Amino acid sequence: MGDVVVRGGVVVLAERAERLDVVAHDGVVVALTPPGTVDTLGVEVVDADGLLVFPGVVDAHVHFDDPGRADWEGFDHGSAAAAAGGVTTVVDMPIDSDPPTVTADAVRAKAAAARERSRVDVALWAGLTPRSVGDLAAMVEAGAVGFKAFACPSGWDDFPPVDDASLAAGCAAAAAFDVPVAVHCEDRRLGSGPESEVASVRWAATIASAAGARLHVVHASACEAVDEARRWPGVTVETCPHYLVLTDGDVRAIGATARCAPPIRSAANREGLWARLRGGDIDWIASDHSPCPPALRRGAHPWAGISGVQLTLAVLLDAGLDRVRIAGLLTAAAAALRLPGKGPISVGNDADFALVDPDASWGVEAKDLFDRHRASPFIGRALRGRVVRTLVRGRTVYDIEAGVCDAGGGRVVRPAQI
Ligand SMILES: [Zn+2]
Repeated sequence: MGDVVVRGGVVVLAERAERLDVVAHDGVVVALTPPGTVDTLGVEVVDADGLLVFPGVVDAHVHFDDPGRADWEGFDHGSAAAAAGGVTTVVDMPIDSDPPTVTADAVRAKAAAARERSRVDVALWAGLTPRSVGDLAAMVEAGAVGFKAFACPSGWDDFPPVDDASLAAGCAAAAAFDVPVAVHCEDRRLGSGPESEVASVRWAATIASAAGARLHVVHASACEAVDEARRWPGVTVETCPHYLVLTDGDVRAIGATARCAPPIRSAANREGLWARLRGGDIDWIASDHSPCPPALRRGAHPWAGISGVQLTLAVLLDAGLDRVRIAGLLTAAAAALRLPGKGPISVGNDADFALVDPDASWGVEAKDLFDRHRASPFIGRALRGRVVRTLVRGRTVYDIEAGVCDAGGGRVVRPAQI
């Protein structure tokens, strides 16, 4: 691949935003130069005049369910939605696919599906269950970035929750390989209120800290869960856009597409999450993109999960969060998961960019969405700020006029060795 220059935009760097041209060679950023100072002869020029150039979003929590359950969501539709949302790397969760990612063979099967169908780059979580403890080393060897476990039933018989012994064994392996253990923290014996999250975080953090492992609390929804996580050194915590902008009242109004676990809570909790986010208590934001066929959202035991990979960046822009903070929160997982070349825009990193029109006002419609079922609790929402073009390693994978590129082209990213 030749050279690409992203010209005339305001580049959102790790510490500041500045008008710069970004020069990429073979998919890697090689220079950040004052505007108009690069010779563009024979070079692909991407005009970013009037646009913000964000680092491509690293979404550390998606469920693309592929192979085996692409009728829920697969790398084809999922990566199209990611590309249209400025997401250039997704880290896929080990449940929902068939087989679940609980063996080295399953890691390789998922990697093959990603390479074949994904437009964006992909990294893989490995599943930690009582049955997969003996497979953890082989899964790291096969390229997994860390282990994901459930503290409560996952909804799948082939992905049971961890108990004390299997979580301890998983944490010991994680410490040995210096990879994180991500845990879905809910203690359903306590119901679904904040105390369920808090008790579960405390349980997981106690076991992880005894093993010297890095615990990552996925999708914290209750403020108290964030506070509990912060009490433990070495524990990181993520939240999701839906917890930051929606309330339990919205869930009642919107219905099935806004139901998730843990649930979206009160307006007061939402404000509390913002305070913690602004105070630096939340390490990163991920979508927990978790679609299912619409029919499964109905009935006595409806499946819960929010499709959000496409709208994370737009929703945070609309919420008025500072752009440098947004870039930090949407790329921080790259360092924690040791994804080579991923993270902030800087020389030596991959040329992964989300070009954003900060002034575009638009209303989210189903036809704008690229996920398998075009379902989102944000349909009907007016947003200010929109992704207009996305580049993965210098290659345009989405353009607001042209749409998404053909499926494929994504790489599987393995963690850097220490
Ligand atoms: Zn999830």
